[in-house]
Amino acid sequence: MATMTEQKSLSAELKDRNDACILNTYGARKLALARGEGAKVWDIEGREYLDFFSGIAVTGLGHAHPAVTEAIREQAGKLLHVSNLYYIEPQVELAELLCEHTFADRWFFCNSGAEANEAAIKLARRYWTQQGTPKPGIVTAEQGFHGRTLAAVTATAQPKYHAGFAPMPGGFAYVPYNDLAALEAAITPETGAILIEPVQGEGGVNVGAPGYLKSVRALCDKHNVLLILDEVQSGNGRTGRLYAHEHEGVAPDIMTTAKGLGNGVPIGALGCTEEVSSGFEPGSHGCTFGGNPLSAAAALATMRELTKPGLLGHVRETGSYFAEQLRAFASAHDCVREVRALGLMLGVEFTGKVAPLVQELQDAGFLCGGAGPNTLRLLPPLIIEKKHIDKFMAVLPACVGNVTW
Ligand SMILES: *Cc1c(COP(=O)(O)O)cnc(C)c1O
Repeated sequence: MATMTEQKSLSAELKDRNDACILNTYGARKLALARGEGAKVWDIEGREYLDFFSGIAVTGLGHAHPAVTEAIREQAGKLLHVSNLYYIEPQVELAELLCEHTFADRWFFCNSGAEANEAAIKLARRYWTQQGTPKPGIVTAEQGFHGRTLAAVTATAQPKYHAGFAPMPGGFAYVPYNDLAALEAAITPETGAILIEPVQGEGGVNVGAPGYLKSVRALCDKHNVLLILDEVQSGNGRTGRLYAHEHEGVAPDIMTTAKGLGNGVPIGALGCTEEVSSGFEPGSHGCTFGGNPLSAAAALATMRELTKPGLLGHVRETGSYFAEQLRAFASAHDCVREVRALGLMLGVEFTGKVAPLVQELQDAGFLCGGAGPNTLRLLPPLIIEKKHIDKFMAVLPACVGNVTW
């Protein structure tokens, strides 16, 4: 008969099996989750949590959204994959819907944010080459994050992500975020594009200052440089607009997105103007899985939900409500430095490391994460309700109190 000490919990057993066969790129995981519905998830032992992280800004419509589930089910029974050797109806429908709701005239689909940024870097370089004025230089912002492939990680101006991977691809220059003078000073005759996030996600939920994007756009026009906006995290409704640059009333030349686009089914996308699209011709770029019937059907269903009247207003309203509550909390607690937020992309910067707080919140039944060492990042599903936020605010004081700052 097994004694208590011999019995391992299901998650402890899964951890042992994981650690024996999975590359150790993520360190110890937090939990093993088995099931979700809306804003709720359950771990493999049946414990319930409210999901305030959405799998890193991915499941914006919540878990097991009926429209997305049904689209996946239906497409899976029909056709999963054919490759881009063939026309794909759901991919075309997705691009048409994205064209209708964004600045972009043309779309390229891939599988992830990093791939979308790779495509953007290649497109910008090839565009200028085609124009007869090769300008390979790309300027990006410190604390930015653009993905883990070699060029995307080189665009990511955070030394910790570069360590051990030299030689890095050339042509990248870095400037502080929200610093227009530094940006203009970094532009040389070799500069072909500026690549930034409207809100820096991984780097600490750093919101572009009011007017920043507009001024960056003006700098790009003045110096004949392309503006690439990385909306992998800030896009797909997260900030209360379909894409965050809409808050500033400006449009990029190229935009990349991924994360929330398929509500959990892997898909990345690049959208661009007709003019810039001429940089690619048949054979210049490609992707076996990109925009395949399954991922396109999931993204199409997701995008149809995101563009229904009311949802983005709900994101702005609940986002403001959440930010207000957090700011009130911050003003009463010396361990909080600042609250930064746009829509339902929220960061609370503390005076110390937030990893212990993330653990405390998990123990209290809330999944959230960090952005850099000192910032608590909150990315609840876009369908979150005020009552969920109230529940979070009710446990926050005790959780913060349990941590030494
Ligand atoms: C997550 C992220 C990426 C990378 O996306 P992957 O799908 O992990 O490759 C790129 N840019 C931003 C802004 C991100 O948040």
